[in-house]
Amino acid sequence: MLSDLPLDSTSSGMPCVTAGASEVWDDAMKVISRKLSAQNYDLWFRPIVCQRVDGQNIYLTAPNQFIKEWFETHYQQVVMEVIHEGSTRPYVIHWQIDESSSQAESDADATVRKAKTAKASAPPSSPATPIDSPPSRRNGAGGKSKPPIDSEPGQELLARYVFDSFVIGPSNQLAAAASRAVADNPGGKYNPLFIYGGVGLGKTHLLHAIGHHIHAEHPSWRILYLKTETFMNEYINQVRSGRIDEFRVKYRDHTDVLLMDDIQYLGGKERTQDEFFHTFNALFESHRQIVVTADKYPHEIPDLEERIRSRFQWGLIADIQAPELETRVAILQKKAELDQIDLPTDVALFLATNIKSNVRELEGLLIRVAAFASLQQRPITIEFAQDTLRNFLTQSAAHLNVEAVQREVASYFGVKITDLKGQSRQTSVTRPRQVAMYLARKLCKASFPELGLKFGGKDHTTVMSACRKVEALLDSDPQLRGMVQEIERHLMA
Ligand code: ADP
Ligand code: MG
Repeated sequence: MLSDLPLDSTSSGMPCVTAGASEVWDDAMKVISRKLSAQNYDLWFRPIVCQRVDGQNIYLTAPNQFIKEWFETHYQQVVMEVIHEGSTRPYVIHWQIDESSSQAESDADATVRKAKTAKASAPPSSPATPIDSPPSRRNGAGGKSKPPIDSEPGQELLARYVFDSFVIGPSNQLAAAASRAVADNPGGKYNPLFIYGGVGLGKTHLLHAIGHHIHAEHPSWRILYLKTETFMNEYINQVRSGRIDEFRVKYRDHTDVLLMDDIQYLGGKERTQDEFFHTFNALFESHRQIVVTADKYPHEIPDLEERIRSRFQWGLIADIQAPELETRVAILQKKAELDQIDLPTDVALFLATNIKSNVRELEGLLIRVAAFASLQQRPITIEFAQDTLRNFLTQSAAHLNVEAVQREVASYFGVKITDLKGQSRQTSVTRPRQVAMYLARKLCKASFPELGLKFGGKDHTTVMSACRKVEALLDSDPQLRGMVQEIERHLMA
């Protein structure tokens, strides 16, 4: 059975921009851009992409909720007025939040051509290369016109995700070095490369950077970047429409480099795993580079077949941890430099101290502060940043109380909260309990006696020794370290 079939067969159909269809919007934007300062226009309007206009419906994509809300409260009315001046139709706006697409659009200088051209130019009837023959690039097939980097609509390589804009620190050093090595020598000794780490820590950034680099070095190679979900949806649609051969030609024969994002999505999708397995083999056997990312170590991905797990171990597995303070500050400074934001060091430090484990959120703070400063035409100072972010920051810290830590730890280990507070001496319970105490101490800055109370009225010395125990284990037991880090990431997300 196609157990992993989504109910909606059109779900892989990403919104596509039809030439001319969004004229209404484009025209309105021209009027708006003349009314606003270039900086404000770039901040608030450029990130918004009109996917299509269908009758009286305008479909917009915003990179985040914040931009959407800001637009709605401040500009929507003006925009609608402009639109209605040029038309008698009553238009309605529909929103979608999508991080990747809008950035691709806002990077007008993107060197990478759009996916659609790539797909259209790949003749479906091309003769299939036998799987065990060398890939086209190996027998010197270059020299023709550059095939663009192939990817799915809305999933192009983002121009800003290059090695130059990636800040390296101890937390991501291995992954960054491995990515570089793979980009310099694709299909070499790090094949496949498996990059894993928590949300917003730069996996997708590195994956794109590898794509850009290989594309620059080998313009004739076909580089396929896609999300695992897209692979699955496309596979399912092709099976349904009886065109699975086309799918196989595309993935197994016409791909020189496969960059697949968020592979944990394969978990539990049996048929897609099987297809991926054969795709993997075809590419691997002909020395074509495969890079995948996941939010977990291969063995932690639930319901992933052993034969796929073990293949991931043939190459290199590199992790990315939450960045240290210095790296976070450096990332902010880099980002400010790229976006031409005047960011004093003390403000960078202030922001970096407040968000610890998610670079995307960290960047979000910077954008927020910069946006407010630009709108109010004020310099970014520490007072201004504190003021702007007051509500925002208390919200994110407030949810982290001892109870939240207990809930997260209990659910992670599959034990009851009463077990964490109870007296049982079984290891299956004592270890989670120690971890919960350690994390509560670390993240909530609670005192030992207070923690003793919150863990069922224990003595403060019990809590102290639990924390020490976990600290020692973090050094000696990499598996436990991985678990604790993962729980911490969940809590900080
Ligand atoms: P993930 O795929 O791991 O969830 P992303 O690659 O999407 O994370 O990164 C989230 C954001 O943080 C992106 O805008 C990315 O450019 C930025 N980022 C993450 N790590 C770094 C880094 N080391 N240097 C610069 N930017 C980074
Ligand atoms: Mg990602």
